Amino acid sequence: MARESYDAIVIGGGHNGLVAAAYLARSGARTLVLEQRSTTGGAATTEAPWPDAPQFKVTRLSYVMSLLPPSILHDLQLAKHGYKVFPMGPYYQAYPEGGSLTLYEEDSQRAYDEIAKWSKKDADAYPKWNAWLGGLADVLGPLLLTVPPNLGSRKPKDLKETLKLAWRHRGLNVRTIADVTRLMTMSIADLLDDWFESSQLKGALAVNGVIGTWAGPYEPGTAYVMAHHSIGDVGDGRLGSWGFPEGGMGAVAGAIASSAQSFGVTIRTNAGVAKIRTAQGRATGVVLDNGDEIAAKVVVTSLHPKTAFLDHVGRENLPTDFAQDIERWKTRSGVVKINLALGELPDFTANPGTHLQEHHTGSVEMAPSMEYIERAFIDAREGRPAARPFSDGVIPTTFDKTLAPEGHHIMSLFTQWVPSTWNEEPHRDELEKYADRVIDTYNEVAPNFKSAILHRDVVGPYDMEHDYGLIGGNIFHGELSLEQLFHLRPAPGFADYRTPIQGLYYASSATHAGGGVCGIPGMQAAKAAIADRRKSRARRA
Ligand SMILES: Cc1cc2nc3c(=O)[nH]c(=O)nc-3n(C[C@H](O)[C@H](O)[C@H](O)COP(=O)(O)OP(=O)(O)OC[C@H]3O[C@@H](n4cnc5c(N)ncnc54)[C@H](O)[C@@H]3O)c2cc1C
Repeated sequence: MARESYDAIVIGGGHNGLVAAAYLARSGARTLVLEQRSTTGGAATTEAPWPDAPQFKVTRLSYVMSLLPPSILHDLQLAKHGYKVFPMGPYYQAYPEGGSLTLYEEDSQRAYDEIAKWSKKDADAYPKWNAWLGGLADVLGPLLLTVPPNLGSRKPKDLKETLKLAWRHRGLNVRTIADVTRLMTMSIADLLDDWFESSQLKGALAVNGVIGTWAGPYEPGTAYVMAHHSIGDVGDGRLGSWGFPEGGMGAVAGAIASSAQSFGVTIRTNAGVAKIRTAQGRATGVVLDNGDEIAAKVVVTSLHPKTAFLDHVGRENLPTDFAQDIERWKTRSGVVKINLALGELPDFTANPGTHLQEHHTGSVEMAPSMEYIERAFIDAREGRPAARPFSDGVIPTTFDKTLAPEGHHIMSLFTQWVPSTWNEEPHRDELEKYADRVIDTYNEVAPNFKSAILHRDVVGPYDMEHDYGLIGGNIFHGELSLEQLFHLRPAPGFADYRTPIQGLYYASSATHAGGGVCGIPGMQAAKAAIADRRKSRARRA
């Protein structure tokens, strides 16, 4: 028998679990969050990985904010709880063969001049590309906040939801529908080839198509991944813009936790969940790793689907089709995160100087062309870590003074790829050699880079799986591939944040609008639970 009981239990204190808990408590439910690690945040975490240099703090996994919708910021009053984001500076790439490209999103003339260095035709096409993408974002953006309908179901409620969605899009014309279809099905490489000619600009724009994917830029579906990363805003309405949260990504989770606590949520860390209890197809509570049981009529889980359903609920308690869908869930990625403490900023040959300059303040990339990115993927798919990995780098300390001592910097390198099986073994030595190669590529364009590094922290797929619960090392709890999107995320018939178990709701990045630090899965799962709770109370009254 459970000694403790709550109205609602949320499993996992990542940002989505915390958002779900905050909304539940705000609706009046006595809510408990259970987190297995010693801190909350999950993949949105700020840590001090070097015991001998605790003054340096890194956003160990996720590193930039984009998709958190203004409604969540407002409902949870996150600014009051310390949420503050500095909009990032421009995209910057220095080329091994010389020269550089800086994309100033806020200044069309400067962007034109930069692109025209490589291709005048591309400079002319770039504003049209941005307008085209903006038009598609107008269609796709609101879909992120839409609960996917249960396509194919003949139940009147499901048919109504499907028709509602179709009606909302009745204004779309043949061309827009064709553009959306292309975006959903094309590779980012084919799409960019349609628009541009210079390898420099195509390399720059291809990065967003492969972030976190187990797919090179020539794979179908990568155009959509680019769109997913291009439609967010940092809360100030500037579409597609990204920003550095003050205090790192852990501060975002910290603000959400503080908001949740202000609504009355209890957060328990070092409290791993071993099982979700069910009886007659209903969730009744959880069993912790230490054997303690806690009862609740509402259980929200924000864990990876394989953990949440196969380990915690158990195949025997799930419909066969659903269990099979979760078994088949694709969750590879081959991402390696490298965090560096720097004694000085990189001194790029193309744009010299170690003093703070605009090109240090945005993405500091190592993705000179689509072919370069593709080569890194081919290496990994053939079973080798990339010889020349691509890297999405940022230096958040160009704005945020809380992460490193004065005059020093933190650099975060999001890199790909190592083989998708590297979640099974630590591969420590090979990861260090891989990190050396990433650093070498930056050193080719900024010769002070290697000597500027004071400390480094290399986090591979094994660490992501074992320390953070990201099975397969996938950064989004599951690939953003076409067969795992919208009404299929995480499984057909269960994309509405409900599950085959009554009273069990699903809030992880493996649901629609995830991944990323967007909080939408957490909010939607809580809203589903709150609506069902109200209905069941009304029935009883
Ligand atoms: C390297 C990397 C870089 C990324 N970069 C970005 C980025 O820049 N911007 C962006 O928006 N997104 C980024 N992402 C993706 C983003 O971080 C995730 O999609 C998001 O943080 C997931 O949030 P979540 O709450 O759904 O899950 P998680 O953050 O995974 O939270 C789940 C929580 O559950 C806990 N848990 C696991 N098992 C148990 C258990 N048995 N009992 C109790 N608790 C348990 C975990 O410890 C964790 O705290 C990145 C991810 C990674 C890994």
